[in-house]
Amino acid sequence: MQYFVDVIIPIPLQKLFTYSITKSEADFLKIGMRVSVPFGKSKIYTGIVYNIHNEAPTVYEAKEIHQILDDSPIVNQKQLQLWHWIADYYMCTLGDVMRAALPSAFILESETIISKNNIKEINESTLKDDEFLVYEALQHQSSLKIHDIVNILDKKNVLPVINRLLEKNAIQLDEEVYEKYIPKLVRYVKLHNNFSSEAALHKLLDDLNRAPKQRQVIMTLFSISAKTKKPVKVSDLTTESDASPAIVKSLIDKGILEEYHIQMDRIQYSGEANEDSKDLNDYQAIALKEIKESFATHNITLLHGVTSSGKTEVYVKLIEDALQKGKQVLYLLPEIALTTQLITRLQNYFGEQVSVFHSRYSTHERVEVWNNVLKNAAKAQIVLGARSSMFLPFNDLGLIIVDEEHEQSFKQFDPAPRYHARDTAVVLANIHRAKTLLGSATPSLESYYNAQQNKYGLVEISQRYNNVLMPDIELVDIKDKHKRKLMKGHFSDRLIEEMADALKNGQQVILFQNRRGFSPIVECNTCGHAPQCPNCDVSLTYHQYRDQLRCHYCGYVMAMLKSCMACGSSELDSKGFGTEQIEEEVKALFPDYKVARMDLDTTRGKYGYEKIITAFEQLEVDILVGTQMLTKGLDFRNVKLVAVMNADNLLNFPDFRAHERSFQLMLQVSGRAGRTDVRGKVLIQTYNPYHAILQQVSNTDYIGMFNEQMNERYNFKYPPVYKQIKITLKHKDYTKVDTAAIWLAKSLRQVFEEHVLGPESPPISRIRNQFYKNILVKIPKKQSLLKTKEAIIKINNSFLSIKDFRSVKLIINVDNF
Ligand code: ADP
Ligand code: ZN
Ligand code: ZN
Repeated sequence: MQYFVDVIIPIPLQKLFTYSITKSEADFLKIGMRVSVPFGKSKIYTGIVYNIHNEAPTVYEAKEIHQILDDSPIVNQKQLQLWHWIADYYMCTLGDVMRAALPSAFILESETIISKNNIKEINESTLKDDEFLVYEALQHQSSLKIHDIVNILDKKNVLPVINRLLEKNAIQLDEEVYEKYIPKLVRYVKLHNNFSSEAALHKLLDDLNRAPKQRQVIMTLFSISAKTKKPVKVSDLTTESDASPAIVKSLIDKGILEEYHIQMDRIQYSGEANEDSKDLNDYQAIALKEIKESFATHNITLLHGVTSSGKTEVYVKLIEDALQKGKQVLYLLPEIALTTQLITRLQNYFGEQVSVFHSRYSTHERVEVWNNVLKNAAKAQIVLGARSSMFLPFNDLGLIIVDEEHEQSFKQFDPAPRYHARDTAVVLANIHRAKTLLGSATPSLESYYNAQQNKYGLVEISQRYNNVLMPDIELVDIKDKHKRKLMKGHFSDRLIEEMADALKNGQQVILFQNRRGFSPIVECNTCGHAPQCPNCDVSLTYHQYRDQLRCHYCGYVMAMLKSCMACGSSELDSKGFGTEQIEEEVKALFPDYKVARMDLDTTRGKYGYEKIITAFEQLEVDILVGTQMLTKGLDFRNVKLVAVMNADNLLNFPDFRAHERSFQLMLQVSGRAGRTDVRGKVLIQTYNPYHAILQQVSNTDYIGMFNEQMNERYNFKYPPVYKQIKITLKHKDYTKVDTAAIWLAKSLRQVFEEHVLGPESPPISRIRNQFYKNILVKIPKKQSLLKTKEAIIKINNSFLSIKDFRSVKLIINVDNF
């Protein structure tokens, strides 16, 4: 009898590939193990065994596998079930899913580039002969491909050697960044040397009799250092003396205290849980009870809790329950909200049971987490991670939490699989018969709609923790301010007033501006020409810091122009405004305060994001200017004022979700204000203060927003009322993509009639020299999604059989929003 395996390989093939194996291989192999296989003329891939059988393929001669790579499966049946669902639902191949699902170290292939791991010293005597040969070669050559290694070792089956070297951490795969180590600077204070003599100290304390709060701080400093005999952290000092950070700051300013920093090694985390979870307040306790009741009838429940209501503490209780039942827990977050703040908070409660899975971690670390989850190790009972963490080999999930469930970044846009992590998490939970809790202060329309339809349970918390009031939100009409000449640059008199007030009291300010760079575009005052990207259909944006013009789509860069490219005039003007310009202006307005900026440009480097957050947390920065990066679940204690510099460019964004997103974004930034006892203040500058969304934001009127937006979605046939699938075509030849798009839309229309929109050129119709066309298929509730997809696949197949269209790239995006 002959034996065969069907193998998933990480490339977009419509069908699985079949290889022949021997009887003993068939006896040994299990579904979910890896094998290395030849493909095409000379390629090598790592494949996952999907099926073992005796049927020879009919249309080709099955090749033999090269080698078996595992002793036991690294992918389990539940994962394969999930992969299948993703491939079907999002209309991609199992190979696409496999590539997204596995850490790259698991899928060595001919294209993999291997180099020496320079971070770790390797004791060469621990290497086997073949490992040493490869390692040795990497001393002389910066990188090798699989085929080079085949030549060096003079044998075909080299993946096991490479796997062993990876396990020993001797080599690394290219495209990798190692960023786990995050040194944290901690702020300490001591008494200034001027007061080291007894006499000077007495005099100081006498002088401070008139400033009892300050005196209290000094006394507390003494008592802490007497007790601990260690440097005193500013944070300990403020907590124990019950003084505001402003008082400590004033003591530093007066030269009585001296501040200094010590680097704290976050990696030295002891691994012990050192805190009990917090007792819930009444609102939280009721919410917890309601969530549990809701889970009795709904596997999915939405927790709608206002910002700072303490949702995280409620999650913690649910996690404790799941752990008690011996279940695994997955806590999903948008990448950017996965801050050290939150990681530390959970590690304090759960110690080593928390594993973090982050794209910024090295392959080695990701493989470690993978293996811990696979073994169901104590170390990985709770996985905290961004969207890709749901591909981990869980075998007994009890609970999935999707925090900030409204966040757009849960959707992967490119490459395939174009999946939405929240929706996929629901399916994953189903496979495990686990519960899913979606949490947000500003739920997505689709989740709230599902709750209204009673598909999901719904639980609300409408009070902030400690009964802190929701911030007071004020709309500032900048059209009127301009008219009355009450603007300084982009700052209204109201904003300047409120800023001055907050800063004077030692409180912090956040300024939100939805654009990075100095100003979006540069325009010639004489002829109106704006410099364009040569590869894309957009104007370049000006970045003052480097005096450059840049394209945000393809990364094209040129030096700022001295004169107009079209007419030669030197009168170039910048239109609009970005974070960099706000930063400049605020520095001029408040020269005595420390300003920092947080956007893609300032956080690109290693630890960039963490550094800014830490500095702000530790009150080293007074004013933080930033983009939406600021909105994500950050818990700052001392922010009094938040300002949205210009609400209009959010509202006017050309997208059917622009209004919903603006509402979410503005409420989320507002939520950063006044999280402790002082009531926060929010100023929203706009040309259009009567805009319904702004009214809803200023009243924190989620339901008002929901009803009005749902109305529009009904009227204009948008999700969540209709489903939609976007088909994008691209090609470097405009005529070709145009003809192809017209053909495709016409064929789709024959089936779906008026529910096909387009083809249309997107707002940016050319990117990296490729022309784009979009077609949108809208799917009414009563129409079968499955049948719709089948029809689309059929039309696509005819499309692909037309010779002229073969070079046109076609991308299908299900739920493209
Ligand atoms: P949310 O996620 O809803 O915005 P958080 O969970 O971050 O809110 O809570 C806001 C702040 O209130 C945090 O600093 C948290 O430690 C504190 N907090 C929330 N609940 C409690 C509680 N029951 N006891 C003590 N502190 C709490
Ligand atoms: Zn470009
Ligand atoms: Zn000009």
